[in-house]
Amino acid sequence: MFDKILIANRGEIALRILRACKEMGIATVAVHSLVDRNLKHVRLADESVCIGPNPSPQSYLNVPALISAMEITDAVAVHPGYGFLAENADFAEQVQKSGFTFIGPDPDVIRLMGDKVSAIAAMKKAGVPTVPGSDGPLPDNSERCMEIGRSIGYPVIIKAAAGGGGRGMRVVEREEELVNAIAVTKSEAQAAFGDGTVYMEKFLQNPRHVEIQVMADGQGNAIHLGDRDCSLQRRHQKVLEEAPAPGIPDKVREQVHESCVQACIDIGYRGAGTFEFLYENERFYFIEMNTRIQVEHPVTEMVTGVDLIKEQIRVCAGEKLSLKQEDIVIKGHAFECRINAEDPQTFFPSPGKVNNFHMPGGLGVRVDSHLYSGYSVPPNYDSMIAKLITHAEDRETALARMRVALSELVVDGIKTNIPLQEELVRDENFAKGGVNIHYLEKKLGL
Ligand code: ADP
Repeated sequence: MFDKILIANRGEIALRILRACKEMGIATVAVHSLVDRNLKHVRLADESVCIGPNPSPQSYLNVPALISAMEITDAVAVHPGYGFLAENADFAEQVQKSGFTFIGPDPDVIRLMGDKVSAIAAMKKAGVPTVPGSDGPLPDNSERCMEIGRSIGYPVIIKAAAGGGGRGMRVVEREEELVNAIAVTKSEAQAAFGDGTVYMEKFLQNPRHVEIQVMADGQGNAIHLGDRDCSLQRRHQKVLEEAPAPGIPDKVREQVHESCVQACIDIGYRGAGTFEFLYENERFYFIEMNTRIQVEHPVTEMVTGVDLIKEQIRVCAGEKLSLKQEDIVIKGHAFECRINAEDPQTFFPSPGKVNNFHMPGGLGVRVDSHLYSGYSVPPNYDSMIAKLITHAEDRETALARMRVALSELVVDGIKTNIPLQEELVRDENFAKGGVNIHYLEKKLGL
């Protein structure tokens, strides 16, 4: 096992990783920007290194500073968390070349999954269901593109192979708009990602977002840990998640789970990963794979009882997967509300000092947060300040528990989206289960 891990992240996920390391007896190095020197995990880590000024390009994205921090502290591995450098194949490669271990899959696998065209091709080969589409990049031939559009059927969506974060996509309703839409998406993709490759997919009208959690050891062993529904989104940002995804027929669910496990084995996957799908009319359509731990991993931990971060660290240290598929039993239901420092109406970030912070508690209530009374939320980073998670024997009870937990949560001094979450957990349609990805924006009148 690793002697010492450097945590290349901040906020709640850095604290989450720190806790896992401590339980495993692994020494920890926290890195931080200037403004982040008072983060909770920095205070709790064995060592800490300031890696630069506040803007993330100069600190959390500063590869030479991170590598130097590993060298001077004798850390042997780096955990990237999510965001920042978590899915940056060049960083993973640089870490390896410098003689350290990147806690994640091989750089080649990150690259394969980071390009959506190659990812979809690999998934098809493994038997993972994909969206009907152009089967590769669109050719430089308008006639041929129109033929592809006709064979898929309108509406279609043009997507950048290198796209991410909901950028580099354009919906096309009619054939007359196709050629122009391709040209615009191509030039936008070239400008934003340095790669103008685009492909075409059928545009699904009212899908849900359902994703499958996997864990693999890169030694031929892989398992899935069930699914999550993350359909409540605003501007492609997830707001409230749950596990398992409600109302999916067992047979459909099992088939897609198995195909994800097979895909992990096929591509030699190592570590924690998520296969993201759109789900419509009882069918799954693969859209992308995230080659890292995700924000919403706690709901899966609650229903499986598996510590995903510890397992991720173990397999990336070269150990065999300690779990078999039959060890994974889904028990009950879990919800996660993302608590953001933002105005609940305008969604503008609301950084500043938290005068008072009170966490809810009780059976089946979990709070993953780096907040404490007196902490100042800086304006420089993501606005998520806490994740409130509830677990119970069934969906209705877990949701009732979330209502109570939210009512106990106090974050005083800054604006938060707690009022929005309180409304969502009382929403009748959400309570029924299975709302689609447009539901939240429609509710908000967007
Ligand atoms: P990104 O990597 O930018 O997050 P994704 O491929 O995951 O891109 O797509 C982001 C979102 O765009 C999806 O969650 C969904 O809302 C929408 N989307 C993508 N592809 C389709 C499609 N074929 N049909 C309908 N919506 C889509």
